[in-house]
Amino acid sequence: MAAWSDNIRKVEPYVPGEQPKDTDVIKLNTNENPYGPSQRVKNAIVDIDTLRLYPDPTASALVDVLAEYHGVDPSQVFVGVGSDDVLAMSFLTFFNSDKPILFPDITYSFYDVWAELFSIPYERPALDENFRLVKENYYRENGGIVFPNPNAPTGIYEDIKNVEDIVSHNKDSIVIVDEAYIDFGGESALGLIDKYDNLVVVRTFSKSRSMAGLRIGYAISNPVLIKALNDVKYSYNSYTMNRPSLIMGTESVKDDEYFKETVSKVVATRERFVEAIKPLDFTCLPSSANFVFATHKDIPAKEIFQAAKDAHIYVRYFDKPRIDNYLRISIGTDEEMDKFTEFLTNYIQER
Ligand SMILES: *Cc1c(COP(=O)(O)O)cnc(C)c1O
Repeated sequence: MAAWSDNIRKVEPYVPGEQPKDTDVIKLNTNENPYGPSQRVKNAIVDIDTLRLYPDPTASALVDVLAEYHGVDPSQVFVGVGSDDVLAMSFLTFFNSDKPILFPDITYSFYDVWAELFSIPYERPALDENFRLVKENYYRENGGIVFPNPNAPTGIYEDIKNVEDIVSHNKDSIVIVDEAYIDFGGESALGLIDKYDNLVVVRTFSKSRSMAGLRIGYAISNPVLIKALNDVKYSYNSYTMNRPSLIMGTESVKDDEYFKETVSKVVATRERFVEAIKPLDFTCLPSSANFVFATHKDIPAKEIFQAAKDAHIYVRYFDKPRIDNYLRISIGTDEEMDKFTEFLTNYIQER
């Protein structure tokens, strides 16, 4: 082995859901939104000639429209290249203590990857047997807290009272609430921003706004924490938001009607799908997201995952303790979910 190999950082990377090249598939594996972006986004004009210029490093067009949308000051908004970028920046910025940060044992599988990458100590308090957060587990000393609400990959929403309880018990550390799925159900922690100076709420355009391909995420907090985030960002990469993203992201926020309409369609399809697979002996955890976490009475999840894939239907399977008999199924159109239900019906019958 070459001597330089000791100098190379070795990490166990996050494994994103498959993005099959084949377009002839039903893709229910990465929680994308089946409905395209708003017509306003489609009509947006990107002047290609302007691409020779760097974009606005402050991303002010997008920051301003998000601030207005959420009724906060622009100094309270930070934008990044998907919420993954915003979360990674937040880990770098806010989690710098020798004490372990805390997040649930079953949660978004990027958190431990960032903690490892940035050498942040962490502990993972277990969710209870119903996959619910145990708030008392977050009363101990820590170097920061992060959890999604609704949680991933369970889809379970934690009552805002419990979220506030965790924030208020941890005034000496930063609490990040990752609200990637909040538009599909539940009350946001944004209402607590003015009350607690240790709270950061993170959102994404990838799920509810149908714009995973553009990579836009944001954080809302108080001006002090947002400045801290920007200081780290400017120390790393000043021009994170490209010109097309700034233009199209802004247009998306301006079309609230379309946004609400498509979100409610996804929610209606989710409820319909949960009912449709019940008679097939599937149980779904109560979902407030754009996916369901389902388990079958007899058939191992891994087997169904593979059989579905062979039939060109992609869902997500996590070979991890406690959840290795569940499938995470993103909600597509009614038609897609009907096809998947039909596949499941036939598969179970012929097995
Ligand atoms: C999808 C997801 C993200 C990341 O989304 P981006 O596409 O990077 O904005 C962050 N957190 C959770 C819990 C997610 O499910």
